[in-house]
Amino acid sequence: MNYETILQEVYQESKSIPTVGNVSTSIPELSKVDPDKFGIHLTTIAGEDYGVGDCNEKFSIQSVSKALTVALAFSFLDEKIWERVGVEPSGSAFNSLVQLEYEKGIPRNPFINAGAIVIADMLVTHLNNPKQDFLDFIRLISGSPTVDFNFKVAQSEKDFRFRNAALANFLKSFGNINNDVETVLDFYFHQCSIEMTCKELAHSFFFLANEGKTKSGVQVLAQSQVKRLNALMQTCGFYDESGEFTYKVGLPGKSGIGGGIAALYPKNFVVATWSPRLNEKGNSELGMNALELLTTKTGMSIF
Ligand code: GLU
Repeated sequence: MNYETILQEVYQESKSIPTVGNVSTSIPELSKVDPDKFGIHLTTIAGEDYGVGDCNEKFSIQSVSKALTVALAFSFLDEKIWERVGVEPSGSAFNSLVQLEYEKGIPRNPFINAGAIVIADMLVTHLNNPKQDFLDFIRLISGSPTVDFNFKVAQSEKDFRFRNAALANFLKSFGNINNDVETVLDFYFHQCSIEMTCKELAHSFFFLANEGKTKSGVQVLAQSQVKRLNALMQTCGFYDESGEFTYKVGLPGKSGIGGGIAALYPKNFVVATWSPRLNEKGNSELGMNALELLTTKTGMSIF
């Protein structure tokens, strides 16, 4: 497969598709990003790297981090996670409160904000030094010691935390948050503020294409856990557009409102895209287009 040529084609063709979306305005820090940034990086299971466009520029990974917090929690709590968070697509917006009321404080899945806040609570309980330990985990799986939080973004999330604070307090009222709400939110805002390049992001998700082993050979999850996490990304990784992403792209993946997407074809490749213009569901418009073109041109999708 000539990935270099295919990525170039995907990049050029995606750029020529008219987009209508704009950058996220949910917090002021994210709205400052240049909307026309666009990068793609693909890493094959053999470890070859191919990048195009703005693939070496850092961006806010936002909810893409939710797959990585689940991976870490899964590594030490295993199936216990699912006592406090479900595995069903939500069909509602990422920051929705409604289902929590009639589902008694058990979020539908770990990739909507409510579910990610419960996972954050698990990590706050189990890690000695939660933010630093999570950062160390990210540095390990990305193979990049320079990956870091963006403290301005974390502060901006905190300043405008009304919706996430409502979710966390609501969860607490059902007994599904064990720690102090502000401590859990502080962890959650920092995980969302992590910045990476497309290359670092592709490397971070490598273990999910490689039966649980990072690019440098560290076993992070068991093969059966990888199967579960990939299944969850496939069914729930794109907010209330997970069906559409599966239909168009056919790969498990996770998006974030910073415009990033990480997706993978097990035992074949990992790919990360970044373009901050979002569609009305909060997913990167160009990123989705590019990944649809990639799986169409290569004929490589899990379906
Ligand atoms: N930090 C964002 C929030 O909690 C993450 C949203 C996302 O990327 O889906 O609202």
